[in-house]
Amino acid sequence: MLSRGRSRGPYEAAVLRTLREAGPSSRTRISEITGLSQATISKAVGTMVDKGLLRESVAAEPRMGRPSVTLTPSADAVTVCGVQIEYGTIRLGLADAESRVRTVHSVPFDVTAQPSDVLDLIAAEIERMVAKDDGAPCIGVAVGIPGAVDEARRINRLTLNLGWRDVPIADHLERKLEVPVVVDHHVRLMALAEARYGERAGNGIAYLYVRQGVGLGVAPAGNASYTGGPAGEAFLGHTRVVEDGELCRCGARGCLETMVAEPYLRARLRRAGHAAAVPDGTAVLAGLHRLAAEGDPAAVEIETDVVRHLASALATVVNLFTPDLVLVGGIVAEAPGSTITRIRELTRERIFPLLREDLRLEPAHHSESASVRGAATLALEVSHYT
Ligand SMILES: [Zn+2]
Repeated sequence: MLSRGRSRGPYEAAVLRTLREAGPSSRTRISEITGLSQATISKAVGTMVDKGLLRESVAAEPRMGRPSVTLTPSADAVTVCGVQIEYGTIRLGLADAESRVRTVHSVPFDVTAQPSDVLDLIAAEIERMVAKDDGAPCIGVAVGIPGAVDEARRINRLTLNLGWRDVPIADHLERKLEVPVVVDHHVRLMALAEARYGERAGNGIAYLYVRQGVGLGVAPAGNASYTGGPAGEAFLGHTRVVEDGELCRCGARGCLETMVAEPYLRARLRRAGHAAAVPDGTAVLAGLHRLAAEGDPAAVEIETDVVRHLASALATVVNLFTPDLVLVGGIVAEAPGSTITRIRELTRERIFPLLREDLRLEPAHHSESASVRGAATLALEVSHYT
């Protein structure tokens, strides 16, 4: 159990959102932006300063009149927990009010275990991590998962590689932890964190994450409110790209995943006799590139397939959503620079001419902690800024 009886004033979230968007501001400015009376804001801000949620600083202005007092949110006033469920691995971390992640760690789990046992393991890990942490109390938890979630962000509707269906993740963890818990599609969360806190954010971000499967997340720019919805969670990985292609775990044939996701790439390398040349746990696209550069015909064919299919998929994303920035994560972020360049050039050829010049397609930094940061960002949205 994490709850320490945190109570929130009625206007706390509104004040915090205002300061996040407008930067450090005076009481008068907060009142103007929120439309709430000066008296209401003064009372709310006073309580928040007492609680350590805001810091006051006095600007020494040489002009006549009263010195202006500016309010700044204290990033270390709260802690949130971000969790990412991957195939056989749980990644967890704690973050501050600006989604800066600390203490990330991973624990393995048996993929054949019952979902409730995996959730019990997650709850125990969170409790242990929070007990060891000397930061502010943990006010909320968010869980990212590859797969579909319900509209209320409480239930994992379907995750193919784990065989999970209608798992009440939020209810289960809330019973154990007694703090608010939400669940969302993992790549949508990565896109949300980049749009909200990334240095490279523009008018919108598309995030393509390839590892066990292919996940796409689309998020609006930093100051836009996060609404989720169908545009943020897409099943691009199950678009057919090869007629009568390989059988996909979704039951269909020739899905994008069967051409670019890691398990399928490793199976093709195995069939070509290259399992030992690209051992499990190493960057698969780097190993593939090495073999292709040596002139191995099977490796050349597999690499060409990956680059072409990724470029087509990314071009579809760019044509549909026209994001300012496209980030590629997972095994693609670990690919050699020359592979990324080829993917970028082929994507550019395949998009609408007006979009070509401005296309920004880059590997995601910190691809692995991106998922924890994404989940932490959602926990903040729900438990701190709303
Ligand atoms: Zn499929």
